[in-house]
Amino acid sequence: MYQATYAERGQGPVASGGQSSVSIIGAGIAGAWQALLFAQAGHDVTLHERSDARMMLSTSHWAGGMLAPYCEREISEPLISRLGLRALDLWRKELPDTPFNGSLVVAHTRDRNDFERFARLTSGHRRVDAKALAALEPSLEGRFREGLFFADEGHVEPRRVLPKLHERIIAAGGTVKFSSEPGPGDIDGVVIDCRGLAARDTQPELRGVKGELILIETGEVELSRPVRLIHPRWPLYVIPREDNRFMLGATSIEAEDTGVSVRSALELLGAAYAVHPAFAEARIVEFGSGLRPAFPDNLPRITIDKDRIVVNGLYRHGFLIAPALAELTLAYVERGQIDNEVMQCEVMQCA
Ligand SMILES: Cc1cc2nc3c(=O)[nH]c(=O)nc-3n(C[C@H](O)[C@H](O)[C@H](O)COP(=O)(O)OP(=O)(O)OC[C@H]3O[C@@H](n4cnc5c(N)ncnc54)[C@H](O)[C@@H]3O)c2cc1C
Repeated sequence: MYQATYAERGQGPVASGGQSSVSIIGAGIAGAWQALLFAQAGHDVTLHERSDARMMLSTSHWAGGMLAPYCEREISEPLISRLGLRALDLWRKELPDTPFNGSLVVAHTRDRNDFERFARLTSGHRRVDAKALAALEPSLEGRFREGLFFADEGHVEPRRVLPKLHERIIAAGGTVKFSSEPGPGDIDGVVIDCRGLAARDTQPELRGVKGELILIETGEVELSRPVRLIHPRWPLYVIPREDNRFMLGATSIEAEDTGVSVRSALELLGAAYAVHPAFAEARIVEFGSGLRPAFPDNLPRITIDKDRIVVNGLYRHGFLIAPALAELTLAYVERGQIDNEVMQCEVMQCA
């Protein structure tokens, strides 16, 4: 259950109950959720985005879109589960058609030890044998002896869900401006900086962690939920998309170049082939990569300097945690509530 570690600290930048002009810079998943919750709360919201509506300049465009707070426990801090579990409720409420049909984790016999380790480090799963696995995903019949089923996890398709969120912001009375690139110092009123890696001018600790992916298309395999394959180096997965497409992801490399290396492509395609050999006949639609914005501790941070708020460091969990971060920011702006785990105040400006 979600329990915020709020400490009442008096007034935030907006008087209690007052509505104000709120500008959000960056319409990736962090900024979109901030804009949506502020617009719904009655604030005068403008969301600025330097890309056009296709959002090609955002990391969010390249993401898997898994909402997997239980699986991510393997490699992340408890804070991510706390924010993630709360965010699942917000996704369900805002976009009730989000698929929450779980995710599966499978392994080949040689990776048995890593599979057991994954089971130990995570929760919210039940073991399924080959028969139950085939009942969940008929295409996987006969492929694996057992798996872990995380029934409460969900997934979204980033390239479809971002436009949906932008539409909902407008429906809630907000304004979305594409091809608009203001700096955080150029605007009056409350400014929420969600520029991702571009915020390095004011947050020099940020780094990009490269994630590579491949999009393939085939009518030979059907999956209805993400399937993770235990892999000694990366959590590799196959996520079903609409129109017989599948996203294969994702590497995690401490580098900031773009593009996909031959080695990564081999590993991603190998993982798909290991999940189902029919993927060998699939058509490759796209290779791509995105840079995950991360702080040195790989945890998200809301930095507050009076009415300048920076929401960043969403790393590999942007889709999972963005709604919960927006809720925390709104609680700060409206009621001065501070979440001690996520918020940092510059020179006591939010005291
Ligand atoms: C391959 C891959 C797979 C991933 N899979 C998952 C997953 O399954 N689940 C999950 O939860 N997360 C996943 N992630 C992580 C997730 O994508 C990131 O955490 C998230 O996209 C970060 O969102 P953001 O809004 O902070 O940054 P961004 O998406 O980069 O958004 C920042 C936006 O700010 C805009 N901008 C910058 N400067 C300006 C300016 N001056 N004016 C206007 N606009 C500006 C940019 O154009 C951009 O659109 C994945 C990432 C990668 C790379």
